[in-house]
Amino acid sequence: MKEIAKKVLELIKKYGSSDPVELCEKMGIIVHDHDLPEHINGFASSYENIPFMVLNSSLNYYNRKITAAHELGHIILHGATNSVNLSMNTSFCTSKYEREADCFAAHLLIAEEISQLEDMECVTVQDISMVTHMPLSMSLECEGWGENLTTLRDAFGI
Ligand SMILES: [Zn+2]
Repeated sequence: MKEIAKKVLELIKKYGSSDPVELCEKMGIIVHDHDLPEHINGFASSYENIPFMVLNSSLNYYNRKITAAHELGHIILHGATNSVNLSMNTSFCTSKYEREADCFAAHLLIAEEISQLEDMECVTVQDISMVTHMPLSMSLECEGWGENLTTLRDAFGI
């Protein structure tokens, strides 16, 4: 999972932002809000080599951000494969992809809120979940948080 932390940091440095939607704009990924069935938060795909993501327009502020970060994870880590198909498939491979996308999202969202965590001596997954508004199950996808958090803190100079 260290590789994922590294990728997130590279992106933040390169584009000067840790906001998932802003990152998409800077990278030329089209973000579109659309009416989707309730059980689908969003999906990512590509059309003529241009990656795009569609977010459910009923999502609130935080869930939209979390979903955009997750879909960006799929685009960066897995290419712009159609993750609607991926998320409906229950094979081992699928859940590995989903875990990786969740881990990518968790790192990105934490980088955004790092200032809220800087004063904490010991950061737990519960703290991370509270600060980023990620579901606890999603925060738990990343193993070795302590180490990764140190990496992020070093990178941000705090
Ligand atoms: Zn997914």
